[in-house]
Amino acid sequence: MIKVTVWNECRHEKEDADVQEVYPETIGGCIVDNLKPYGFDLTLSTLDDPQQGWPDALIESTEVAIWWGHRYHDELSDALIDKLQARVLAGMGLIVLHSGHHAKLFKRLMGTSCNLSWREAEGGERERVWCLKPSHPIAYNIPPYLELPQSEMYGEPFDIPEPDELIFNSWYQGGEVLRSGCTFQRGRGRIFFFAPGHETFPIYRNEHIMQILANAIAWAHQPHQSGWNLGNWGRPIPLEAGAPKQTYYKKPRKLMLAEKAEKAAKAKK
Ligand code: ZN
Repeated sequence: MIKVTVWNECRHEKEDADVQEVYPETIGGCIVDNLKPYGFDLTLSTLDDPQQGWPDALIESTEVAIWWGHRYHDELSDALIDKLQARVLAGMGLIVLHSGHHAKLFKRLMGTSCNLSWREAEGGERERVWCLKPSHPIAYNIPPYLELPQSEMYGEPFDIPEPDELIFNSWYQGGEVLRSGCTFQRGRGRIFFFAPGHETFPIYRNEHIMQILANAIAWAHQPHQSGWNLGNWGRPIPLEAGAPKQTYYKKPRKLMLAEKAEKAAKAKK
């Protein structure tokens, strides 16, 4: 069973009556409930939990993390982001939802501003999510397109690095478009950004949206846990006979230079 942590900022649910109405069980609670039938080992955590929802043991045991945050991205400590980034590089899958495009962790992993254009129209607007790669694992059991009657517009230009794969593209009633389902790989970690999921619309009650999340978990789970990590390892002995060898084998360069300088100084005397 894949160990999935659904991390939810969970402040809208405390602060906004309209969000409480749509998600009385909280956004994270709804995602967990709707992922249960898929057979994952699910843990729900929030920003107000100890260690901002990420105790070390949970970071270590999580195989795929789902991230929903919006208003309080900046509250997350940089030390925690360092740990989570390292965990992604070591193989934890990461699914970043909706306003998580501005999460510290996502921006760190992308290396760009992750800015986009947006419009929160009264009552929302229609979004049509087009599936561009029907044969991709994340698109399993998904129709050619799906329609969300109420959504928040997220439009291009979206300041992300070129995605490895573009799985979904969204069109909005107002005419804008967005690369709304993108994959990236960082180190061993597989990352999926998925745009739909505004807090005042019941988007995580849509069966296709939840199928996409379940597919993304299965895809982002990194089964390759053996062998070398992407370390920075020295190879002092060349593979080919006769090739020039490293001259300071097992001795740090600084020490070697210091010894050289000492020898030179002695020779002068
Ligand atoms: Zn939103």
